[in-house]
Amino acid sequence: MKNNFNYLRISITDRCNLKCKYCEVNPSSKLRPEDILSFEEIAHIAGLAADIGVKTIRITGGEPLVRKSITGLFKMLSSIKGIDEVTFTTNGLNLDKYAEELYSAGVRRFNISLDSLDPQKYHNLTGGGNLDKVIKNILLCKNIGYSPIKMNVVALKGINDGEIFNFIDFASQNGIILRFIELMDITSGAKEFFDRHFISINKIKEIIESRYKISTAKPESAAITGAGPAVYYAIDNGLKIGFISPVTDHFCANCNRLRLTANGILKSCLLRPGEINLMKLIREGASKEELQKTIKLVFDTKEKACGKFCENNTMFSNMSQIGG
Ligand code: SAM
Repeated sequence: MKNNFNYLRISITDRCNLKCKYCEVNPSSKLRPEDILSFEEIAHIAGLAADIGVKTIRITGGEPLVRKSITGLFKMLSSIKGIDEVTFTTNGLNLDKYAEELYSAGVRRFNISLDSLDPQKYHNLTGGGNLDKVIKNILLCKNIGYSPIKMNVVALKGINDGEIFNFIDFASQNGIILRFIELMDITSGAKEFFDRHFISINKIKEIIESRYKISTAKPESAAITGAGPAVYYAIDNGLKIGFISPVTDHFCANCNRLRLTANGILKSCLLRPGEINLMKLIREGASKEELQKTIKLVFDTKEKACGKFCENNTMFSNMSQIGG
């Protein structure tokens, strides 16, 4: 098995308190609570994954902070032998409820998704999100001590490509690492949105270069480079910017992750159907050895299958279901 398959991304719910225009366009019927992995089941799977090399876990969703009592899950995952770090990705709206207790539980960093710094635009794009609250929550987390905070911006032509310097100013002033992500054509019902609003990372770099010099960064720590596909550069005001180009520069060859959906499907790639239903196996009483063998199989499938991200994609779904 490739020893760089060390990252597990776990969606803990398919529910979200936002409705972003490119993420969940045709709402599917939501999973019933009994069809979602319990925290104990998630920890069981994470423990088995850790035994075969997973070191980093990212909790996502849906919106992970809408699931009740999530601090308990972070505590369970952090205590697993072999797991170096547990982080999460959030839209930030519920951070005020959980930031203190998650920090006390040992969580030190997270990624926040924020595609506009214009309150009205943010409201429209997210189906009702309150930008003021998100910004207050980011500042609250800075004060608590979270570091680094990474801000994920899905680059959208005609929507936020005129805000790039605002994002840079905001990130620079608040000590945040900024990351631009290409919009992926994977959301069922959002093809028109993709065609109208896709903009490449190269174009975003060109816009940045009209004001700043970009040089290859030498990130000081793995906390900045992280375990993901972003390529980081510094601009000449000192800010680190990550660029994630799933569409124009496939990074499959370097992809180190497996995904576990809220209903227990283990996926080797965003664009492959789920290979294995671990929840079903667990509930049918599968042994530790059987489960481990199955997880390894998905790792192996990944090794063989990678390299065609988005090129021939026929796998349309909702990111809220898979855990973007
Ligand atoms: N609710 C959390 C959040 O907002 O960060 C976590 C789940 S959300 C599905 C995770 C990430 O997926 C967000 O940064 C979102 O912008 C991104 N995402 C969703 N659909 C996408 C698409 N079609 N292309 C690129 N990124 C997408």
